[in-house]
Amino acid sequence: YVGDIVGSALHRADKILARHKTRIEIPADLPMVKLDPVLFEQVLFNLLDNAAKYAPEGSLVLIRGAHRGGWVWLEIIDEGPGIPAEDLERVFDSFHRVRKTDHVRAGTGLGLAICRGFVEALGGTIKAGSRTDRSGAVFTIQMPLNPAQVPERLQ
Ligand code: ATP
Ligand code: MG
Repeated sequence: YVGDIVGSALHRADKILARHKTRIEIPADLPMVKLDPVLFEQVLFNLLDNAAKYAPEGSLVLIRGAHRGGWVWLEIIDEGPGIPAEDLERVFDSFHRVRKTDHVRAGTGLGLAICRGFVEALGGTIKAGSRTDRSGAVFTIQMPLNPAQVPERLQ
């Protein structure tokens, strides 16, 4: 159950998110997804780590789940500076930083590259977007309910 993995990722991110507000909106009837919980928790942790690093203290980090068609969707939404349109795809490249100052906040610049590698290995997709209501980043993960949708080369 994806909600449980979100819970354990949040638990692991407890300290780094201590100065942020967090909210989980995941329906109790979200269908089960067959995936590797260790890899998936690492994906969520990397996204929460980014939200904690780039969004200001006191701001809200929202984790939203939904189910549409044969897919489970997860969104990690923050209230930080967001990511400019021209960087939305490039942030998944190793060592790509949006702002010149971002590398000083420790870290290797591999977090999102790892996220994409793991999500795609599990048959899903991940993309970065922007909020429309205010500044902030939105990371959307789509995981297939039916492992048959996993491309053969990854099985
Ligand atoms: P690491 O994750 O290895 O510790 P990192 O956070 O710099 O280092 P990534 O997680 O891959 O590396 O993120 C790449 C870049 O994308 C970041 O340096 C930052 O510029 C931008 N970025 C990532 N997440 C966010 C976010 N939630 N808000 C604003 N910018 C972000
Ligand atoms: Mg990171």
